[in-house]
Amino acid sequence: MEEKYDVIVAGAGMSGALAASAASKKGAKVLLLDRNDFSEAGKKTNWGWVCGDAVAKSHTDFITEKIGLRFGEPEIDLKVDGVYALSPDLQHKFIFDGEGYTLDRPKFAKKLVEYAKKHGVEYVTKFEVESPIIEDGRIVGIFGRDEQHKQVHIRAGIVIDALGVASTLRRKLPQNNYIGNTVSTDDIESTGRYIMKVELEGEDLKYYDPKNALIHLNQELAPGGYGWVFPKRDGRINIGLGVEKKSLEIRNERTGKKDTLHSLIDDYVKWNPLIKSWNLDPTDNNGKGYWSVTVRRQQDSLVYPGYMGAGDSMAMPNPISAGGIGPAMVAGILAGEVAAEAVAEKNFGLDYLWKYNVRYNELYGNKTAGLEVFRIYLQSLNNDLINYGMAHFITEEEAVEISYGRVPSLSIASTFNKILSGISNINAFKNLIYTVNTMKKLNEHYAKYPKDPKNFDSWKDVVAKEIHAAKERFKPNPI
Ligand SMILES: Cc1cc2nc3c(=O)[nH]c(=O)nc-3n(C[C@H](O)[C@H](O)[C@H](O)COP(=O)(O)OP(=O)(O)OC[C@H]3O[C@@H](n4cnc5c(N)ncnc54)[C@H](O)[C@@H]3O)c2cc1C
Repeated sequence: MEEKYDVIVAGAGMSGALAASAASKKGAKVLLLDRNDFSEAGKKTNWGWVCGDAVAKSHTDFITEKIGLRFGEPEIDLKVDGVYALSPDLQHKFIFDGEGYTLDRPKFAKKLVEYAKKHGVEYVTKFEVESPIIEDGRIVGIFGRDEQHKQVHIRAGIVIDALGVASTLRRKLPQNNYIGNTVSTDDIESTGRYIMKVELEGEDLKYYDPKNALIHLNQELAPGGYGWVFPKRDGRINIGLGVEKKSLEIRNERTGKKDTLHSLIDDYVKWNPLIKSWNLDPTDNNGKGYWSVTVRRQQDSLVYPGYMGAGDSMAMPNPISAGGIGPAMVAGILAGEVAAEAVAEKNFGLDYLWKYNVRYNELYGNKTAGLEVFRIYLQSLNNDLINYGMAHFITEEEAVEISYGRVPSLSIASTFNKILSGISNINAFKNLIYTVNTMKKLNEHYAKYPKDPKNFDSWKDVVAKEIHAAKERFKPNPI
């Protein structure tokens, strides 16, 4: 049981490979473990690299600025100008995110792992991580099974958990006040997607846009979530949807239907009038897959003594868009850097690692609790209210503000009485005002994220109270 590594990074996906590179480049001796062979680097599940594969340019630029890693073909599949969210009646379209890319996810993941290896990271594959080693209330390594299924204990100063949404390390942390072992099913989207070669009939930018990623908000097609059509090169698309369990149950009950995630995706493909025929893309056996994604704020703390988490293991995807590649990459770099600093200082305690919390919050995390509240609100609106709201409640600029987690001014509030008709609209509008005010409160509260863990409990209580109040006020109501 000798201490062999400074840092163990568990999981060689988006966050893990970058965490390993960042730590190694700053001088730490790093072991990167994954259950997949290099040929399947970053594969999330037996279903493949299940993802919409869209990432903002600002996030890949961040990686280039931070560690000098540049991206191009073939891992960048297609450049897109932006992401548009469409109302259920398709009459309103808001730009949601700026310039970005759709990725060739297997190639992108390989590139990150290759970079890590080039920068001195020891990469061990076919290794199943099973549990943290816990001594005196701190994480001092991991145990798992190697390629021969032999149980292996490996020790290190720091373990970085980059195992994705189902992380076995996070689930087996001692019960503590910093990181929750589980995530509520209300905060999880069940998602699935196809990558397919399509023959399209006609042109209609509401259903397919070769230059933009499209999101279809529609509580009947995708209760509690949304559908997407993202363009790829060579006549292919990434098409899929996410649903929230309760919303789907309510929708099925009220409509007498028995739809599942699988049937909804097939229906969504059929709903698209441009898709004349299609074939799954067999490349990398990655044409069809299902997986989960969280849509809440990241864990209130991302550190525990001897332990740091990054990416989906810490619930980092954006609560509205479910975009998790960007935050996973940002967090991976920050976690790796702080881990290397901790190694240099030989200090693996909570107090020292805390600066990772502070840095992540400053760069990305400070807006996600507000976005979580907006997501909870959105799930309480039926299609009519979403149509009405996108037509009358907010302007395109305000929608952009919300999507970036900023608080919009709601200019229309001044003409409130003129434009509203019907009690449900008035309630939905009042609820929007409540939501925006809560977003503001939470954004201000996150700006005061505790610099010292001593102040964490009281800070966290305020967050929990606001989120609880929003969940009590807004219940899923898709139909
Ligand atoms: C259907 C769907 C669509 C999405 N669309 C988008 C999108 O368009 N844009 C976007 O930004 N985000 C999207 N996301 C989210 C995004 O895919 C994730 O946020 C991102 O992959 C997180 O990266 P990660 O490194 O944290 O985890 P992962 O990518 O899940 O990587 C985890 C790694 O850990 C390994 N691992 C897991 N458990 C073990 C174990 N016990 N032992 C050893 N190794 C293990 C896995 O093999 C894998 O390599 C989507 C998610 C889903 C499910």
